[in-house]
Amino acid sequence: MKDILLTGDRPTGRLHLGHYVGSLKNRVELQNSGKYEQFVFIADLQALSDNAKTPEKVRENVVQVALDNLSVGIDPKKTTLFIQSQIPELSELNMYYLNLVTVSRLQRNPTVKDEIKQRGFEKSIPAGFLTYPISQAADITAFNAKYVPVGVDQVPVIEQAREIVNTFNSLYGETLVMPEAILPKDDICKRLPGTDGKAKMGKSLGNCIYLSDTPDVVKQKVMNMYTDPDHIKVEDPGKIEGNVVFSYLDAFCKDEHFEKYNLEYSNLDEMKAHYKRGGLGDVKVKMFLYKIVEEILVPIREKRKYYEENLDEVYKILIDGSDAAKKVAGETLKKVRRAIGVEYFEK
Ligand code: ATP
Ligand code: MG
Repeated sequence: MKDILLTGDRPTGRLHLGHYVGSLKNRVELQNSGKYEQFVFIADLQALSDNAKTPEKVRENVVQVALDNLSVGIDPKKTTLFIQSQIPELSELNMYYLNLVTVSRLQRNPTVKDEIKQRGFEKSIPAGFLTYPISQAADITAFNAKYVPVGVDQVPVIEQAREIVNTFNSLYGETLVMPEAILPKDDICKRLPGTDGKAKMGKSLGNCIYLSDTPDVVKQKVMNMYTDPDHIKVEDPGKIEGNVVFSYLDAFCKDEHFEKYNLEYSNLDEMKAHYKRGGLGDVKVKMFLYKIVEEILVPIREKRKYYEENLDEVYKILIDGSDAAKKVAGETLKKVRRAIGVEYFEK
């Protein structure tokens, strides 16, 4: 049997370059390696946990996130793409796991702590939001996932899922598969910063370049990107650390891009050295980055256009994927109910 991969996105907005380097690229490569069975899901229940008052935002973005996944190369013939809320089995699993975690453990989860602060939830945290790592453990274990390709912000959440699996298996007997996070190789891709220089590009933070942005919008966002505030004149020496344009070049630029778009240098180190010495203006570096980003986005936009014009096909993929996922989750739920001893009427 092939090892199983599972990963998901919250339908709180369209997907962006952070998702691309942090998770989407990995999931497409792993899908195409043929070595795994893969599930990708749209985490609408999780999105509602901090968007309960704006369900229309979540509803609209379910299709957007499906389009983003399909347009980067998720292939429904190879990957099961489904919607979390269509699998009620996940909510029942969540119910059993809720008893295995303390409130103080949830409050200590560094990712949840950060996200509570970002959302201004300090005084009143929706219970569903505080407990989303538990529901995420239900998603992962329902599909017997061994590997979960994620960005680094999700590592503490996977760690919490591992604890739940440990507790469950030691209380009720070996039932659940132990999951493991798969992170991108390059550090910069583990958490791509926002265009504003903030630590993370995030849909809820308004600092994203979306995979579906038009070339004009991408150009404008690149041109407005945070650089070195002290690099005022071209001849001034510039700083690389904390300069988002160079962080993005670290994530996306390959030596071959210099051959194509900028013959002045043969690699990024040479360009960085010139910037540090002084004499290289921000606009030049930004134009170079823009061309590289566009090279990635052009084929994605093209594929998206096809699916946007064939939305029936997208809905059919989601219906079929959700049906298939429901069957797998149902099997796990049965095992879990048996292990706990709440399968009363089984012959
Ligand atoms: P939200 O702000 O609503 O939480 P988000 O932008 O964080 O949205 P998610 O749907 O929570 O996106 O994350 C989906 C996946 O993408 C996760 O595996 C997450 O770790 C990864 N990811 C999100 N943002 C980044 C980023 N800036 N760099 C690398 N990976 C990221
Ligand atoms: Mg997030």
